Amino acid sequence: MAHAHFTVRQLFEMSACTDCQACADVCPAVSASRDGELSAVYRIRGLEKFVRGRSGFFRKIFGKKTCDAERWNHFSDTVFRCTLCGNCQEVCPVGIHLKELWISLRADLVQARYFPRKINKIRDNLEESHNVFGEDNEERAEWVEEMAGAPEDGYIREKAEVVYFAGCVAAYFPLAQKIPVALARILESSGVDFTLLGKDEWCCGFPLLGAGLKDMFQEFAAHNLDMVRKKGADKVVFACPSCYQMWREHYPQTVQLFHGTQFLLSLVKDKRIKLRDLPLTVTYHDPCDLGRGARVFEQPRELIRSIPGVRLVELADNREACACCGGGGNLEMIDAELSKEIAGRKIADVLATGAQAVVTSCQQCVRTMATFARRNKVPVEVLDITELVLKALKPVFPKGSGHPLSRE
Ligand code: SF4
Ligand code: SF4
Repeated sequence: MAHAHFTVRQLFEMSACTDCQACADVCPAVSASRDGELSAVYRIRGLEKFVRGRSGFFRKIFGKKTCDAERWNHFSDTVFRCTLCGNCQEVCPVGIHLKELWISLRADLVQARYFPRKINKIRDNLEESHNVFGEDNEERAEWVEEMAGAPEDGYIREKAEVVYFAGCVAAYFPLAQKIPVALARILESSGVDFTLLGKDEWCCGFPLLGAGLKDMFQEFAAHNLDMVRKKGADKVVFACPSCYQMWREHYPQTVQLFHGTQFLLSLVKDKRIKLRDLPLTVTYHDPCDLGRGARVFEQPRELIRSIPGVRLVELADNREACACCGGGGNLEMIDAELSKEIAGRKIADVLATGAQAVVTSCQQCVRTMATFARRNKVPVEVLDITELVLKALKPVFPKGSGHPLSRE
């Protein structure tokens, strides 16, 4: 076992844990599974064992004990059954950077070959196809073909001011494709000079970090940045919070980055989007990467409130305390049952608000919540914020005008 992926700060943080268990109380994986071994505190204890037995410096700090392969496999299982929601980090009273720690830990466990077999699938898909699902990357922008009145260029332009980076989930999952369709329609009707990257868009790299495959990530980042440069764009817009977070935290900062909620709000403020009355009571689910990750809490709410007729009621746990939907950290691929259990709890929280619809700003949250609601016949609408804005968008061209951008 190596601990090459840990920084010195992280190694010290491991010994700072006071065992208060606040992290376990807010962990969605623990509450859904009722298994305390999935908690941050259990993992921290395991980590201490992980570095014990190292020579010199670390042996002095942590002692000498080591543990066997069977126990490491068991430990690894608990590490990958985590949504990387960051709720544990949010409440940790001693300020341990737990989410970063989980990513480093996954990387070390993968290097040491203690990891769920499904990680191989993620790595193979990304290596061969440059998207997390192993789909043909040439088909990344095929969703455009399903759009009535899409322009002939399929939104793939040689040069543009803005690149809309759609992300793997929105590109390939039919349930999520409503999001790029909505965002492309809104951008087009607001006169934004934008382009997609199409087949030249590769996965942002988030699943690589989540799978502990940090080493492959650099190639993906360099490629994507190069493609944006070739378009001459100085702004990149994301509807996916995980793509947005990856670019913010792990890519060289050479272009302006916007989550879709921020970009759409600026268009509303500039009066480039005109919204009509939409009588609807909604609640808002903060995606983990956009909320706790990027600290974007108020702009989505401002955008929702800018729609006349829409009433926003908050979830009991909102903003920093918002509970994960179950869709993060590759959990759906590693433990689909646990992911569903977490989604069920989220939907129960939504129903408790009395809202007609839950609005979020993430395709993975939409997929997770909508799939649970549909399978369990729960009468609640699940909408991405782009779909909500599109519902309220005043048509640029009047209905029945025959213009391809006129909506029914
Ligand atoms: S990141 Fe979320 S799921 Fe993972 S241990 Fe922390 S609270 Fe639990
Ligand atoms: S909240 Fe922080 S200090 Fe408390 S048990 Fe969890 S990791 Fe340790």
